[in-house]
Amino acid sequence: MDHFHYQDNDLFCEEVRVSELAAQYGTPVWIYSKRTLLHHLNQIQQAFAEVDPVICYSVKANSNLGILKVMNDAGSSFDVVSGGELYRVKQAGADTSRVVFAGVGKTDAEIRYALENNVLMFNVESEAELDAIASVAESMHTVGPVALRLNPDIDAKTHAKTTTGKKGNKFGMDIERAEQLAEKVLSDKRLSLKGIHMHLGSPILTTEPYAAAVVKAAEVVARFRARGHDTRWINLGGGFGINYRQQEALPASAYAAVIVPTVRAAGCRLALEPGRFIVGNSGILVSQVIFTKREGGKLFVIQDAAMNDLVRPAMYDAFHRIWPVTPKVPAPQNFEADIEGCEPTDVVGPVCESGDYLAKGRSLPPMSRGDLVCTFSAGAYGMAMSSNYNSRPRACEVLVDGSSHRLIRRRESYEDLVAHEIL
Ligand SMILES: *Cc1c(COP(=O)(O)O)cnc(C)c1O
Repeated sequence: MDHFHYQDNDLFCEEVRVSELAAQYGTPVWIYSKRTLLHHLNQIQQAFAEVDPVICYSVKANSNLGILKVMNDAGSSFDVVSGGELYRVKQAGADTSRVVFAGVGKTDAEIRYALENNVLMFNVESEAELDAIASVAESMHTVGPVALRLNPDIDAKTHAKTTTGKKGNKFGMDIERAEQLAEKVLSDKRLSLKGIHMHLGSPILTTEPYAAAVVKAAEVVARFRARGHDTRWINLGGGFGINYRQQEALPASAYAAVIVPTVRAAGCRLALEPGRFIVGNSGILVSQVIFTKREGGKLFVIQDAAMNDLVRPAMYDAFHRIWPVTPKVPAPQNFEADIEGCEPTDVVGPVCESGDYLAKGRSLPPMSRGDLVCTFSAGAYGMAMSSNYNSRPRACEVLVDGSSHRLIRRRESYEDLVAHEIL
């Protein structure tokens, strides 16, 4: 469930008219619903409550401080993948002793920064990284808490660019290597083996990959313990799918049903790193039509959001529901069907690339210059992946809470575009 809905062909975010937000803040604009954010976080907290998990919201999905603050206030912890993200969660008031640090290429400076902040554990991806953590920890007279990231060789059946748990991609290590490295950790006083970590890819709309992964995790934990390691944590990463097309997402309880019993039986603590599941359906991108044109037998709607704002269609062939903010045709159940009164339309942006589109051949009602367009399910990997390509200032972000709303990132100016450059 999310809190974006049409009332008399007028789109609302919670109790606020989206057209009024666009008038006040301009376009393109990212609009987030606080209730939807909390709804999704609460769903995970409740579904897994039996094993008292640490929920580490994955900062890379959406790293705005306003969003991080909402998460922190609601009891979420954080999964960070860089020193910059660690800095952000500190700004948002996080307790860094519950933060996990992931990523395949942590620098010594980042490792030091994380140790200074007493993070819960590093998700370690290679022997070289283990050595680096040990030597930085030694120089600081401390101990590096590590979880080994397993590549369980499970096909999560996602896009090639977002699958991470299959043999042959850059993430994690196979089980044999993890066992070798566990021996190494045991004999090294500079390190302590806290647990094991996996992240299978994203988005995953079935429970089977998690069911298989948690069983592998429990087996490895049992073997580590038999050798004398105090291995307490199973971290199953993120990747829970969301509603991009219709209502295809599973509830958090479906994932919990396959994960919780095995974690309990293993006597482990559970960490999770959900990003998309929490923030994906909590955000929309609202843009305005600049021109329409017919060319080469096609209808193009050219609007003011582009691939520099939302790169997912260009990068992952991602599907986002798109519909006018004040449509003349009610929004359909199935956005992939041919819809009466609609015409196949390419929704494109102003960037000078043929890959700059939000949708292709999409059945959409007639639109004209000045109309507002909503791209749904854009809260995750939207603004976080945006750029200034074509010297386009980044859009602003607005957080809605009931009938109130506030800016959580102002729109960039032309001055901002050149602020770091030196003549
Ligand atoms: C990206 C990532 C996540 C979050 O994935 P979502 O699909 O947004 O839930 C979690 N853990 C790791 C290690 C990641 O790289």
